[in-house]
Amino acid sequence: MKENYRSGFVAIIGRPNVGKSTLMNAMIGEKIAIISDKPQTTRNRIQCVLTRPDYQLIFLDTSGIHKPKNKLGEYMVQTARSSLEEVDAVLFVVDVAEGVGAGDKFILESLKDLDTPVILVANKVDRASKAKVDEELDAFTAMGRFSDVIRVSALNGTNIPELEKLIVSYMPEGPQYYPDDMITDQPERVIIAELIREKALELLKDEVPHGIGVEVMKMEERSGKDLLDIHATIYCEKKSHKAIVIGKGGKMLKEIGQRARQDIEKLLGTHVYMELWIKVKEDWRNNSSMLKTLGYE
Ligand code: GDP
Ligand code: MG
Repeated sequence: MKENYRSGFVAIIGRPNVGKSTLMNAMIGEKIAIISDKPQTTRNRIQCVLTRPDYQLIFLDTSGIHKPKNKLGEYMVQTARSSLEEVDAVLFVVDVAEGVGAGDKFILESLKDLDTPVILVANKVDRASKAKVDEELDAFTAMGRFSDVIRVSALNGTNIPELEKLIVSYMPEGPQYYPDDMITDQPERVIIAELIREKALELLKDEVPHGIGVEVMKMEERSGKDLLDIHATIYCEKKSHKAIVIGKGGKMLKEIGQRARQDIEKLLGTHVYMELWIKVKEDWRNNSSMLKTLGYE
């Protein structure tokens, strides 16, 4: 173990859409977490690693804690909550432009008996006046106990280095858990599935709600070539959704595939050949074995 080296685990929590994934990407500097303007796109715990000469921070981008509506929702709440006890610091991210919402109160309630230090991260300061930010922070600090408060913009990088320093101050001395060049411990398959899902959500707007799951069936390098074959299945809940995902003359599906392919190629540094299928699985979000198949164990 290096002398004076610090390391630890940091959970990022907050209700959907406050900017948790954007924040993690801003700190890590790579596109790993899934960003969307629709809530709850980060379904798996994506673990990201930030390695510096003097410290290593390991981030868990948890799905927002929120009142569960189905099995998938319950699973997400459980993972989010149990991870809070294991970590060295919690970043509670809030959207100061939107202000305190019912979702924030629900989270604050679940933070009550926690011994882990909680840093209140006031995000999206670029979208609110200073007076508004002050007012919202007063409201938040009146409702909960925080070890620190910091104002940031994950989108344009304001105060991100300061936040990093602040987090480090809560880390114990410890080993470098992961090698220097490691950014995430999620299997590539999970990240690829999430990227495809992200593109689908982006392109489908509100036409198909969140009932979309993606499974990567095959990932294989073509021998002797700089080319990766990816076969993936998109699951949706209704026949009518399937038609929308395919689009007129297959246009939508093609676009989803193309956009996902570009991101995957950037991420993996290789050419990708992708085939996408669509299957209807009614009510898959309440089906335990289906959740398992898609990696939500
Ligand atoms: P998550 O659900 O908490 O992970 O939220 P995301 O990271 O997916 O972000 C949700 C939306 O908020 C996206 O459209 C982001 O671009 C946007 N966003 C995130 N951080 C900021 C910020 O600091 N300022 C502004 N204006 N928008 C942000
Ligand atoms: Mg997210």
